Amino acid sequence: MCIFCKIINKEVPAAVVYEDDDVLAFKDVRPLAPVHILIIPKRHIESISNLTEEDTELAGKLILTAKKIAEDFDISPKGYKLLFRVGEWGGQEVPHIHLHLIGGAKLQENIHPEVI
Ligand code: 5GP
Ligand code: ZN
Repeated sequence: MCIFCKIINKEVPAAVVYEDDDVLAFKDVRPLAPVHILIIPKRHIESISNLTEEDTELAGKLILTAKKIAEDFDISPKGYKLLFRVGEWGGQEVPHIHLHLIGGAKLQENIHPEVI
């Protein structure tokens, strides 16, 4: 089972900030910014590459959940970054779709090159 499925199953602890039947959001263990949260589907899907038409609603829900959390953490007015890494060349390390919500500071590409 992948590490994020273990977090979903509460076998591995995480700082959960949002949860419902479809998605889970928790703080990234190695934050790149003051706010760095991962939003994941509860169903194991390896990557954006594995999404199908039937996942349209779920994919939208990941984004809308990120929007809601950004509002909850009060980073919405200044803005933030949403990022999906996809596959090897995209730098994806965990093989379970996750949307990075990164904010709370002005993100400059030369300060956070790994986030680009
Ligand atoms: P990727 O490089 O796959 O887009 O991002 C994976 C992210 O998951 C990284 O930012 C990494 O810090 C985070 N991560 C990996 N393992 C864990 C974990 O066990 N718990 C939490 N909270 N984050 C993790
Ligand atoms: Zn998984």
